[in-house]
Amino acid sequence: MIDLRSHLSGKWVRGAGAGTTLVNPATEEPLASATTEGLDLGAAMRFARDVGGASLRAMTFRQRGAVLREMSKAIHARRDALIDVAIENGGNTRSDAKFDIDGAWGTLAAYADLSAELPDGKVLPDGDGVQLGRSPRLFGQHVRVPRHGVAVHVNAFNFPAWGLAEKAACALLAGMPVVSKPGTSTALLAYRIMELLVDAAVLPEGALSFVCGGAGDLLDHVGGQDVLAFTGGSSTGRSLRGGKAVLAHSVRVNVEADSLNAAVLGPDVEAGSDLLGLFVGDVARDMQQKTGQKCTAIRRVYVPKDRLAEVIELLVERLAAIRMGDPAREEVNMGPVATSAQRRDVLAGIAMLEQVARVVHRGPAETAHHAAGKGYFVPATLLLSESPSGDDAVHTHEVFGPVATLVPYDGTGEAAARLVSWGGGGLVTSVYSDDRPFLSAAVLGLAPFHGRVTIGSSKIAQQALPPGMVLPQLIHGGPGRAGSGEELGGRRGLDFYTQRVALQGDRAILEVLSGARAG
Ligand code: NAP
Repeated sequence: MIDLRSHLSGKWVRGAGAGTTLVNPATEEPLASATTEGLDLGAAMRFARDVGGASLRAMTFRQRGAVLREMSKAIHARRDALIDVAIENGGNTRSDAKFDIDGAWGTLAAYADLSAELPDGKVLPDGDGVQLGRSPRLFGQHVRVPRHGVAVHVNAFNFPAWGLAEKAACALLAGMPVVSKPGTSTALLAYRIMELLVDAAVLPEGALSFVCGGAGDLLDHVGGQDVLAFTGGSSTGRSLRGGKAVLAHSVRVNVEADSLNAAVLGPDVEAGSDLLGLFVGDVARDMQQKTGQKCTAIRRVYVPKDRLAEVIELLVERLAAIRMGDPAREEVNMGPVATSAQRRDVLAGIAMLEQVARVVHRGPAETAHHAAGKGYFVPATLLLSESPSGDDAVHTHEVFGPVATLVPYDGTGEAAARLVSWGGGGLVTSVYSDDRPFLSAAVLGLAPFHGRVTIGSSKIAQQALPPGMVLPQLIHGGPGRAGSGEELGGRRGLDFYTQRVALQGDRAILEVLSGARAG
């Protein structure tokens, strides 16, 4: 058993007591323990604010970008070892592990690249300036400057590597120090990443702190210049938003929560076409990849009524190729869910869905690829709901596992948009069609309920990116159920960590202050 430590106030520390045991979810073998009991998280926040914040603010965007580049390289250099950790503690297949780890160093590299497009200074102009009076001399200019607090990052269990890196990339480039807390059950991967970043000494002291284990009283120490970015379940998000110190100091909060992501097949998509193949491939991949534990995974699948039988046949054929088991074995292509609690929740969620939908495919419960009776396995389960309603479980309950539900619709874009919007706000929906009027009704109808909409059409079917892939260039987040948060999106990702301030006065002075003109 490895005793995991936190990295606080510039040093490795371990809390008191036995803590939480992290296990291999395929074998239930204990791997590590994590505890933060008794650690002085208030002092760690002050250290990050005072030491890390001061160092980062003294650097230009380009210098911070160089730090991100070194972080990216350090993670990439240990990629194979990290993949093994994700397989062991996350229940990831090799391919799942790469998705997380490559996402981590890739996002850091993307923000390192972005730094070259930012001004060679420390202030970000925000839009064009405006003349305020009769004379062009009286001027106004919005600028963005780093907040003088700490960015507290609380992450979910499903992407220990990417979750740490994508949030840290934006905060550090913006000039804010980070205190990062991974989901405890799969924290071994984040811990190994933190270890290698500390060993490589690529960050200024205090720029990145790491809380490994329960959050303890961490959020009691936030103040008005701090920000909190949370990813996880919506009920946890609600409770963190309502925290005493968060409310008392009007702490800026970003929540990335549940999402009932959807896929919509257009009525024009022909049998045997590449576009139908793209649609079926996206749905099947999202059920299988990371054992369905992706916040962006497709949970609802809308199909024109007269195409249902054909789509079920194609999907069942794909799902039948899933070989569930211990992901350490090469022949396995879907691992367990991450914890026993997660398995219990997924099984209960399937039972809820079965109240309003019938199972059209369920993979075998036992396979030859894991020790009988051990591991948190849930077979891929596809359901069909023929009489959907806005308050049924399909449209109100996220089942965070290898589960999706088919719903027939009348083939109009308006109906598709209405049904998708019943999900109450989501991260991403994908629509597959070449029919422009259909796309216009469906995409523009469901757009207000989403952070991202992907459109699959024939001409890009061969090169389309999976809807579940979050890209650093595009925003990630969504309204309503999804938490109303927004992350990434290139330069937009820095907004959360910077204060926009309107400067008003003599144009010549403003241009020097905002970096538009040399001082
Ligand atoms: P969770 O139970 O809500 O936990 C998320 C994080 O919050 C963990 O680090 C957890 O720490 C921490 N936490 C729990 N209670 C806390 C408290 N009182 N104070 C401070 N921190 C607290 O979610 P999860 O089970 O890890 O993740 C699954 C959920 O995340 C799913 O619903 C999924 O949809 C959502 N998710 C959303 C996105 C997105 O980008 N929108 C991405 C990934 C996942 P411990 O682990 O120590 O309890």
